[in-house]
Amino acid sequence: PPWSLSDKNVYDWSSEEEEPDGRARPIQVLLVKDDHTFELDEAALSRILLAEEVRDREVVAVSVAGAFRKGKSFLMDFMLRYMYKQASEDWLGDNEEPLTGFSWRGGSERETTGIQIWSEVFLVDKPDGRKVAVLLMDTQGTFDSQSTLRDSATVFALSTMISSMQVYNISQNVQEDDLQHLQLFTEYGRLAMEETFLKPFQSLIFLVRDWSFPYEFPYGQEGGMKFLEKRLKISENQHEELQNVRKHIHSCFTNISCFLMPHPGLKVATNPNFDGRIVEIDGDFLNNLKVLVPWLLSPRNIDVKEINGSKITCRGLLEYFKAYIKIYQG
Ligand code: GDP
Ligand code: MG
Repeated sequence: PPWSLSDKNVYDWSSEEEEPDGRARPIQVLLVKDDHTFELDEAALSRILLAEEVRDREVVAVSVAGAFRKGKSFLMDFMLRYMYKQASEDWLGDNEEPLTGFSWRGGSERETTGIQIWSEVFLVDKPDGRKVAVLLMDTQGTFDSQSTLRDSATVFALSTMISSMQVYNISQNVQEDDLQHLQLFTEYGRLAMEETFLKPFQSLIFLVRDWSFPYEFPYGQEGGMKFLEKRLKISENQHEELQNVRKHIHSCFTNISCFLMPHPGLKVATNPNFDGRIVEIDGDFLNNLKVLVPWLLSPRNIDVKEINGSKITCRGLLEYFKAYIKIYQG
């Protein structure tokens, strides 16, 4: 399938200067190498953020983060469809159209920890008349050993610092270790932003995939909020460590929300030849996708990136990105 990568399509994005065919594609801007050092492709990042049409626009930076093979790219390809068909009712696309975007060459086989950015920055008119630039980021980590956990935490922290909306993509439930990872990530980020008196980060969205208890908490955002309230509740009889994780998460983000997504169906989850066409995706999933994507990305709902209370442009974001990387490079 076009979006589960075969080796012959593996492409070394980080060293490529020009888009080979002029088409938009994911660009690996941050790479964690085998020796745990970080490599920032400053040239590629500059090319995207300093493009003339966008560099002085205020920026909305949307990041989707989490472990590999949990359907992030699949979701992001739908986010791209929405962005490309702005304001159109039929953004979901034709029934038989294969899904393309982040996933088709993005690398579900080669599991690199790092950050990819969609090479095209979208210009969107907010209802208040301002034109803002929307940047889509795919952030992934491995989380499977002590050393990769640290790498993943750093990458997650960086993407949280530079995004205005962090979608934390998790599978099936919000487990205690998902919260602990989050605490570790955000602790890294907070250290780097110590001088601020405001909450350091903006929006965090827990996106739970394959939610299988809709009879307890219904799919969508309302069910998600109720579920999250219960999951993040702090109570006296909780172990201190569990209480701390919860307090910490609340202290870091201005907005925290949650969305419960149904399972997309067996063709999506298990058929190796599935190419993303929507006829093969469960109706329940599609219905919730039609709610989720506009909820995240509609012109009304997107928020400009702020740092210490000031709105940031694409040009400003590039400077912050470079500065934050330096902190981790030591
Ligand atoms: P990523 O590594 O997180 O970007 O994951 P991908 O988007 O590449 O998807 C990994 C695999 O999970 C693919 O085979 C997808 O068809 C499948 N997939 C996509 N979305 C979902 C989902 O919501 N639930 C399940 N169970 N599988 C999914
Ligand atoms: Mg992916």
